[in-house]
Amino acid sequence: MSYLDHSHKRLRMIDLTFSAALLLLTVMLFLSYFIRTELVQTNVQTQHTYDVIMAVDELSNSMLQAESSRRGYILTGNVQQKSRCEVFAKSAQENLKEVQDLTLDNQSQQRRLAKLDNLIQRKITIFKLSISHYDRMGFRGPEQAQLTEEGTSLMTAIRVEIDEIKSHEKALLSERRARERTTLLILTVVVLSGILIAIILLSLSYYIARHESRSHLIAAGDLQAANRDISDLSSMTQLLQSCSNFDEARGILSCYGEKFFPRASGGIYLINASRTLMTDAAAWGVADRKPFTPDQCWAMRLGQTHLSAAASDVKCQHVETGDTTAHLCIPLAAHHETLGTLHLSFAPNEDPDFMEKKRLKAAAFAEQVALAVRSLQLREQLRELSIRDPLTGLLNRRHMEESLLREISRTTRTRQPLSVVMLDVDHFKSFNDTFGHEAGDHVLKEVGQLLQKNVRDSDIACRFGGEEFTLILPEADCDIALEICNRIRNAVKGLQLVMGRQHLGHITISAGIAVFPADGDTIQQLLATADEALYEAKEKGRDRVIASCTDQS
Ligand code: GH3
Ligand code: MG
Ligand code: MG
Repeated sequence: MSYLDHSHKRLRMIDLTFSAALLLLTVMLFLSYFIRTELVQTNVQTQHTYDVIMAVDELSNSMLQAESSRRGYILTGNVQQKSRCEVFAKSAQENLKEVQDLTLDNQSQQRRLAKLDNLIQRKITIFKLSISHYDRMGFRGPEQAQLTEEGTSLMTAIRVEIDEIKSHEKALLSERRARERTTLLILTVVVLSGILIAIILLSLSYYIARHESRSHLIAAGDLQAANRDISDLSSMTQLLQSCSNFDEARGILSCYGEKFFPRASGGIYLINASRTLMTDAAAWGVADRKPFTPDQCWAMRLGQTHLSAAASDVKCQHVETGDTTAHLCIPLAAHHETLGTLHLSFAPNEDPDFMEKKRLKAAAFAEQVALAVRSLQLREQLRELSIRDPLTGLLNRRHMEESLLREISRTTRTRQPLSVVMLDVDHFKSFNDTFGHEAGDHVLKEVGQLLQKNVRDSDIACRFGGEEFTLILPEADCDIALEICNRIRNAVKGLQLVMGRQHLGHITISAGIAVFPADGDTIQQLLATADEALYEAKEKGRDRVIASCTDQS
């Protein structure tokens, strides 16, 4: 699954968890409001029950007070007790009315209250009868005793009824309380677990969001690094394309190698033309610069990346034994040709993720380096082709003329002598006729190699055309040039010419020398003078060297 797919999945998860948490919190809010309303309602009901109980208690109290006042009046004749009895009897009736009003919604209580009402009305009647009897006859006679007795039994019945009403109210109260407790418990559990789930969902959402933003940061960092790498690779390629020779490229490759792999040592090793040796084209860090053979490198042998990260992994043989660092070799391949290897060594026990990133980066680097190296090699080959004669490997005439012009201007500055030699193989036509054109080519090649070997690095040997050669000898006056030419002439004469099994005999050469500035100060003059001297050498019997200094001698 790609990074973007992962990111989308995580964003969906955030949406889901966050919305679920919000929904849960909203439900919890409603539930909390519901709990509050429920509690208020239950409180009102509880208060109502208390009011009923209190009113019943007051009723009971009023009845008791009225009864005790009646008794007090009958025993003492105190009129205050009489009026107290009337007052309490009245308030008992009011209390009863209050209780009836409070329990209007309760049929069973209404029934009990109706019964109580009868009892109380009767009891009040007895109060009145007892008092009027006392007022008329005093505390005498069996009637008063009868009234008191009936009053007592009525009082007992009233108390029983009141107790029943009260116990009914208390039962209601405890039933409401139990219901309230259960409701509260359920709601509390629901709200608490809801809030807990919401907290978990919010935490999950936060965790995913954090993880996502961290992944974004890492991805942004990787992207920035990748952009930097692409830009570095492009500037390296640009610089390498502008190099005119390999020596310039070495510095650029080392610089960018170090820039790309700052925590690693490494090198770029290129295979030679005969594909026998790998030498460093660039190296950075503490890289080993020792050359090695291609079969000492697994990347070269297998044509694929070779990584040896752990101590137990197979190491390339060009890596020194006992080296504990992690090694990475990537073949440098371009246009189906392996040009060499990119070798990197990292600190041991690096994180596998780090190594994988480095492997990918090294592969991109190796690809660009291979293309640039191949292009540089092709350009060098092209340049070589444009300045060298393909048969002898010597510089060609066009390049000789450029070189001669440069040498003349340098010699003019330094006031040093300069000799130009025209050299021609004697009777080459008949050699060709005798042994064939192929043998002639073989001889020209041999002569070319001999010339190259017998001049200094600062001298320039060219094939002028056909079997004619030119030597430019800076700082050589006529005598030195003569000496060099005679040495070459003798060496050519001594050449053992063999092609396959065929012996080709021996050849000789003739040469003419012109010295700058005495024999001319332009290319044309110098070449013409040297050609004239060569002609003279031919005229005089060949296998000789002619120069202005030989004329004097
Ligand atoms: P001289 O001693 O006067 O120089 O005689 P010569 O035969 O060497 O001179 P000439 O100019 O008559 O002949 C030059 C011959 O060199 C003609 C040509 O066949 C031969 N030649 C020129 N270029 C090549 C080449 O590239 N390969 C071969 N095999 N022969 C060449
Ligand atoms: Mg010739
Ligand atoms: Mg010739």
